[in-house]
Amino acid sequence: MSLLMDQSAEELECGMDNPVLPFLRKDRIPHIWCPGCGIGTTVNSFCRALGDSGMDLDKIAIVSGIGCTGRTAGYLNLDSFHTTHGRAIPFATGLKLANPDLKVVVYSGDGDLTAIGGNHFMHAARRNMDIMVVCINNFTYGMTGGQVAPTTPLGPTQTTMPFGNFESSFNLPFLADACGAVYVARWTVYHVRQLAKAMKEGLQKKGFVFIEAMAPCPTLYSRRNRLGDGVDQVKYFKERSTIKNGVDTKDVGLTYQGDIVVGKFVDRDRPTWMDSMNDHFGKVLGDKYETYGAHHG
Ligand code: SF4
Repeated sequence: MSLLMDQSAEELECGMDNPVLPFLRKDRIPHIWCPGCGIGTTVNSFCRALGDSGMDLDKIAIVSGIGCTGRTAGYLNLDSFHTTHGRAIPFATGLKLANPDLKVVVYSGDGDLTAIGGNHFMHAARRNMDIMVVCINNFTYGMTGGQVAPTTPLGPTQTTMPFGNFESSFNLPFLADACGAVYVARWTVYHVRQLAKAMKEGLQKKGFVFIEAMAPCPTLYSRRNRLGDGVDQVKYFKERSTIKNGVDTKDVGLTYQGDIVVGKFVDRDRPTWMDSMNDHFGKVLGDKYETYGAHHG
């Protein structure tokens, strides 16, 4: 399923008409992802979004935390940071505030972003920090061996839940919406075009953007729960997904192998953290205050 699987840098050179290749660091190929992993498919959509957006790649930076998805930053031909576990959003926040010219993208997994990084996620959304967060949700910790995650639905076994998960899981779009994100969408690796379109819209949106991309982890989650290979999981995404743009995010929670609601759920505007800061200090200090990042969108 992954575009990049088993391709050497030399083989990649042969396909230079492929629209994805200009966005990859070919010297870093082959990648580490398992056969059937969905992460590479999301990277394909992201590369297409980069191309379709027409944005200057020198003005885009990508930040990842730790985990299988966290390796993405190292494969993309952008200025990139592969940071510590759960801390991609604080790094991204610092980057954005130090250089308001940049469009900063966080690209990480569900465990990294919503467990150890959960606090950062909530507060960046609350502040409407001008960053785009892409969360690859495969319902487990991949790199560390298949432990239960805050996104694991009730029921399936994990290495730390050998008799089945009994903890409630996060509804990530609802969490992002409730905390104040201005753009919230969910797609799966079956919906590659919609995912690319959402990523393009996210790149062009000002404020805290959250995009959830559901993806299979066949090596751990699927195998442990006898769900078949990566293709079987994509078939599940196809058969059980319903597109409901604009639906209330409280109604899009996920259950184990149950129905999936996908779509663009939230698209609104409110002042970013930097807008609010400038507005506040402009009022308090008047002419003595020099607007920060005044020339940047
Ligand atoms: Fe993908 Fe799972 Fe393999 Fe990690 S362990 S690369 S998430 S299939």
